[in-house]
Amino acid sequence: MSQKDQLSRNDAIEIIAAELTGPTRIQEFTTRVLEIWPSNAKDPHAGVRQAMKGYDHQGKTLLYLDNTTITSMQLAMAGVQWRVSLSAGQLAKGILYIIPAFAGLKPRWFDNANLQLVDASDLIIPTEIVEETRRVNTIFGESTQKLSALNLSWWYKKHQVEPTDHLLITIVDWSANKYRLEIERHTAYQAIQDEVATSNALLMDQLFGALEGAKDERVFTHIVITAAYAHLKEKQTVPADHWLQLIEQDGRMVWNGYEIGYADSLTSLGTLFSSESPQSAAPPKLTAAQQEQVYQFKAYLKHKKSLWRRIEIQGEQILKDFDDIMRHAFLFDAMDHLSGFWQRIRRGDTNKFREVDLATIYPYGDEGEGGDTQIAALDLQPGDQLKYVYDFGDWIECYIELEEIIEAAEAADYPRVVAQNKPRYRYCPVCKTEGKKTIATYVCYWCSNEQQKDVLMCEEHISPEHEDHYLEEMLY
Ligand SMILES: [Zn+2]
Ligand SMILES: [Zn+2]
Repeated sequence: MSQKDQLSRNDAIEIIAAELTGPTRIQEFTTRVLEIWPSNAKDPHAGVRQAMKGYDHQGKTLLYLDNTTITSMQLAMAGVQWRVSLSAGQLAKGILYIIPAFAGLKPRWFDNANLQLVDASDLIIPTEIVEETRRVNTIFGESTQKLSALNLSWWYKKHQVEPTDHLLITIVDWSANKYRLEIERHTAYQAIQDEVATSNALLMDQLFGALEGAKDERVFTHIVITAAYAHLKEKQTVPADHWLQLIEQDGRMVWNGYEIGYADSLTSLGTLFSSESPQSAAPPKLTAAQQEQVYQFKAYLKHKKSLWRRIEIQGEQILKDFDDIMRHAFLFDAMDHLSGFWQRIRRGDTNKFREVDLATIYPYGDEGEGGDTQIAALDLQPGDQLKYVYDFGDWIECYIELEEIIEAAEAADYPRVVAQNKPRYRYCPVCKTEGKKTIATYVCYWCSNEQQKDVLMCEEHISPEHEDHYLEEMLY
């Protein structure tokens, strides 16, 4: 029996990962895996590389330092240290909730019951798991939630821990689920405020950078949190505060329980650290100057950039007003079809954008959803882009770029179209046969489709045959 009969590829990856002594090139790693797990595949290295990236390994046995280098989680996580805020509630109960304390920093396949704690002298801290049931209100009604905590009442008492003290948790042995627990007194913490701030900023930049660089607009906690702390370990002089506390303060990101995403597009699991509810989106109060100032945009059809309009709108005006002028400027029917606005946000310094929903506008009556948002409240800077879609069926897409913010002109009526592309007119073929040159004002979609060429006409030459057809005004 060959080795391969007994060994799976995942086993082989685990064995080689356990043998690593430091950062290793991926090419070297796959070669070593294939030595103990030979493969006849066309590109055996590619198969191993694929498996290494999967759920069984990334964030469990392997950590990617960059695109060409890996190390083992066991090496990378050893010595990773973070700070946990205590609360009067936990102290009074003599417990430490496992989440948030260990969120993202505990091997995900381990049972909480296996968690081992030692103190600064490497002596075992006796503990046990206590389960707490909490009633929570969700959108589906009231439900119960089970929370696991470590019973530390004896240890807290022994060290006379105060609610303002912090705990420092250090990973001693990743694959054994073993941690060191130490107390950091409030005064000691205060003495290193500047260093902590530096570590915090490094951690948040590392995390946000990972999100900006990700293919999707979210990243798995078990991969990015471990990687971020492993990187921080090499750079920090003191441990950072807890990442969950930091992303709440940072505001750019949220956590949904297993992924981190952009704060404006992912629903947060809720706040775990403060008792305040997450900020309700009360619109900012605009100053008189902000209301007055004029936003000059260039709007163009996504698929025909040569068709553009320069539009000016005032800060106090709303997206519903913007929709009106867009429909007017691009000859979209003002009485029919939904439309919508999104903000396009560049991801890092890439050429990729993500989109944040701003408004859905109904053609009749009120402002729809988000249509009452004031232009100045969007806080746009020159170069920022919006996306506008007219008709969610035909999906006519426009990009709208803010060119500049200027002062309002005397006695001007906003919003207004101040410039447009030089029109490239097309002419009525019937008039042409009569020796006249008349700009075509309509195109018949039915006939154009039937005859596989644009069927154009002027106002005067809308012949009876088009009566029941679908005519559209020409946009120049
Ligand atoms: Zn004509
Ligand atoms: Zn027709």
